[in-house]
Amino acid sequence: MANYDSSRNGTISHVAQDTLHGNWSPQSWRIKEQQMKQPTIYPQEVQPALDQAMARLQKVPPLVTPTEIVKLKASLKEVAQGKAFLLQGGDCAELFDYCEQNPIESKIKLLLQMSMVLIWGANKPVVRIGRMAGQYAKPRSSPTEMVDGKEIPSFRGDILNGFSRDSRNLDPARLLEAYFYSASTLNYIRGALASGFADLHGPLDWSLGHVKDQDLSSKYSRIVTSITESLRFMRTVGADTAGQLQTVDFFTSHEALVLQYEEPLTRNLRQPNNTPTLAEANGLAIQKDHPAYSQITSSWKVPAAHNPSGTAYYNTSAHFLWVGDRTRNVNGAHVEYLRGIQNPIGIKVGPTTSTPDLLELLRTINPAREVGKITLITRYGASKVRALLPTHIRAVEDSEYARCCVWQCDPMHGNGKTTKEGIKTRHFQDIFDELLETLTIHKMEGSYLGGVHLELTGDPVTECVGGSEGLAEEDLNLNYTSYCDPRLNEKQALELAFLIANHYRA
Ligand code: PEP
Ligand code: MN
Repeated sequence: MANYDSSRNGTISHVAQDTLHGNWSPQSWRIKEQQMKQPTIYPQEVQPALDQAMARLQKVPPLVTPTEIVKLKASLKEVAQGKAFLLQGGDCAELFDYCEQNPIESKIKLLLQMSMVLIWGANKPVVRIGRMAGQYAKPRSSPTEMVDGKEIPSFRGDILNGFSRDSRNLDPARLLEAYFYSASTLNYIRGALASGFADLHGPLDWSLGHVKDQDLSSKYSRIVTSITESLRFMRTVGADTAGQLQTVDFFTSHEALVLQYEEPLTRNLRQPNNTPTLAEANGLAIQKDHPAYSQITSSWKVPAAHNPSGTAYYNTSAHFLWVGDRTRNVNGAHVEYLRGIQNPIGIKVGPTTSTPDLLELLRTINPAREVGKITLITRYGASKVRALLPTHIRAVEDSEYARCCVWQCDPMHGNGKTTKEGIKTRHFQDIFDELLETLTIHKMEGSYLGGVHLELTGDPVTECVGGSEGLAEEDLNLNYTSYCDPRLNEKQALELAFLIANHYRA
């Protein structure tokens, strides 16, 4: 926080002051609206429609529940402690049109298969989060763009405006549409999982026919055989008494960019029974020899949400929200909003993140130092990661936030390239290189790379070059359908999971 005094680093007065949340409310971000990055400013004439949409959003039921949010936080605590791995993936910009049975199924099937490979490789449980059911808003580098010689507002995601040239004006009715498309997507995900979509008793279709390289092909086949045999063995010995092979946990996430949407879906709700006390939530974060240990432990009787009435604010539009690289300024509106909610929060960390800012963000959003509350999503680019990541790791791991955060690698957003023809792409090799460097650096620094954050789709798109299919720049036009950043297709995404698994098993 702005009034944080580093000489009081970690003392109870600092913690207590911040955990009371000052004057936070779901609306308090508006105080910072003036200096807001990527603001959504609706024209005066649609103000009544905006009021109406927000009033309606305030009444509709939550999409996710506090019990689920607390459950995800418990899983992320395991990730922060090195006991589990986090797989997060989905489209860069989810469109309302993606709300269809097949694309939803292919995406959850892909994430499920990748998670099986990662469980096999890392020998750890995998926490699955989709960039799905609400990833409708995009930050843009410029508010306008030239289309056919005409300057028009940039496409900012279906929640704000449309991609077609004549629907670029901001339309508040889209906020409500976003809610219903989210609800529908999430409903199908829940239904499919509850009906055995992720039932590991059935054989999974791995289709590795595209892998032309014989060495790779046999390497991947060996992994698949090993996974299949392990599952068969578990079934044979009756290891599935709890029905754990029948379904899996799956959580949703999106960038908390449009606060006119997030605010009305933020609800003061009863804290569920699975809410940990602060002591439990802190876990490994505070070591016995930490100067603040005794002061902090004296307050450990209160639940993590610190509210004597037993209620707390939850963002009910998704389980996990993140703040983007362009909006993570400590004194900005987005951080003001995020610091008040119970959900786990992701923070994008890149080449322009200073170490003082990074620590200030942690102290602002996670003053109680709940383990796993914050996921640091690092995205530097393959050529910069070695120069930048160690400094960020040292800053965090040598501070009072040691062993407190999930470190997650986003190998996508620092590796954008534009072809000679002006097509946005990413090279599979760069993506893998940044991931491998990140794994190696964490190992060297004694920290733990807890997860990956990927832009992917289950459809056979041609947006990133490279991978076993050998997609070349000339192939990009074959099936390039992204409205924003280029995504890994099913084969490339699965291959990345195989490569990570191999790295662990090597
Ligand atoms: C994104 O995740 O789609 C994105 C815009 O990332 P970043 O904020 O890291 O640029
Ligand atoms: Mn993106």
